[in-house]
Amino acid sequence: MALRFYNTLTRKKEEFYTVHPGEVRMYTCGPTVYDFAHIGNFRACIFGDILRRYLEYKGYKVAYVMNITDVDDRTINGSQKQGIPLTEYTKRYKDAFLEDIKNLNIKPANIYPEATAHIAEMEALVKSLLDRGHAYENQGSIYFRISSFPEYGKLSNMDMSRLKAGARVAADEYEKEEVADFALWKGWDEKDGRVFWETEVGKGRPGWHIECSAMSMKYLGKHFDIHAGGVDLVFPHHENEIAQSEAATGEKFVNFWLHNEHLMVEGRRMAKRYGNYYTLRDLLDKGYNPIAIRYLLLATHHRQQLNFTFDGLEAAKNALQRLYDFVDNLKLSKGDKDNPEIDEVLQRAKKDFEEALDDDLNTSEALGVMFTLVKEVNRLADEKAISSSDAGKVLTVVNEFDSVLGLLRREELILDQEVKALIEKRVSARKEKDFALADQIRKDLEEKGIILEDTPEGTKWKRKM
Ligand code: AMP
Ligand code: ZN
Repeated sequence: MALRFYNTLTRKKEEFYTVHPGEVRMYTCGPTVYDFAHIGNFRACIFGDILRRYLEYKGYKVAYVMNITDVDDRTINGSQKQGIPLTEYTKRYKDAFLEDIKNLNIKPANIYPEATAHIAEMEALVKSLLDRGHAYENQGSIYFRISSFPEYGKLSNMDMSRLKAGARVAADEYEKEEVADFALWKGWDEKDGRVFWETEVGKGRPGWHIECSAMSMKYLGKHFDIHAGGVDLVFPHHENEIAQSEAATGEKFVNFWLHNEHLMVEGRRMAKRYGNYYTLRDLLDKGYNPIAIRYLLLATHHRQQLNFTFDGLEAAKNALQRLYDFVDNLKLSKGDKDNPEIDEVLQRAKKDFEEALDDDLNTSEALGVMFTLVKEVNRLADEKAISSSDAGKVLTVVNEFDSVLGLLRREELILDQEVKALIEKRVSARKEKDFALADQIRKDLEEKGIILEDTPEGTKWKRKM
């Protein structure tokens, strides 16, 4: 079966194809850096990560761009409240976001362009929309003229008959009922203080939607393969991106629009505005392993809502521990007789794993395949010891799966030897009364998630969960 994705634009599962052979260019709407991101935001990031990793697994060369929205009402308000320049304020949260991404084992995008570093590109895009009659000025701001783009509404499947001619909306976020000409460029307003740019389209700042059109096309071209984000972005953000981009270039903007459903809390979307959120930092402070959080967020298919509960997080933590135990035991396998059944089990697992992900990236089924593999290998191991060569084959396949899932950190895969060497080093340091070094080794290991326990029988170690 070929790789297929559910495309919001066509409202069906479609066989995947690329604009350039062997290459995928994809864009995900990134965070607005006014605060720490919550784990709902990270559900979107992990979806993008799995998508990118699976495309790489399939042999595509992937160019992945995720923008950073570093100018909007919220960032401006935040910096004003703290009395610091906008860039200083947003840098703090951009850095925190990149740190969180790393903790969640999300592969970094090729580039994280910032809106404030691309004002010239946005200006050029607004100018071309003005030149082509798709935009107009009103009281210092510039609006996109929806009636000039007959395909408006094609992504969100909107009934355009309700559109009120000439109505305008200045806010970046609004509901379907408020569909109207939207702001491309916002004329300077007193409350923006020192945040403005003097451009040929006036003194002011860009609207949110134009940012993504300008930055995605700059790095990926006018016409590219995949645009992803949470379902809340279908309207108006992505609908507006299509209108701006296609009206300006006269070309199709993006082939595949992929959206992840929300992380929910008691029936409501997790969001800052509802106060029902946890940041990654909140959960790390409670002692959770970020990879258990990653597990939780990818274990449900991206087009299904996922209800966040601590019970669910505990279950994810336990499932992950089972996987770690399995890998640890495999490394200890010492049998010398190969089992002919292993090859068959592995081949089937690989086929099932790929079939699951080929089918619109069904991660929950792919995890199921991984655990079936665990069960079957354990069954064979119960019958007779697994040979070290068979164990090596199983580990290779588990690592291949993990190149997509990202649950076993590289450190942990090479860990055993390293940990043992460090423990020995610490024992000799203590013998030589170099307690500073001994403490340092304990601390370094702890940072890698390894807890040491000194017992009368010697130093024992385990992984922190
Ligand atoms: P924002 O910073 O609000 O613009 O959101 C950044 C990304 O996170 C976007 O792709 C949103 O669609 C996504 N997102 C926001 N809230 C949630 C949620 N509760 N569940 C899943 N994705 C979300
Ligand atoms: Zn965007």
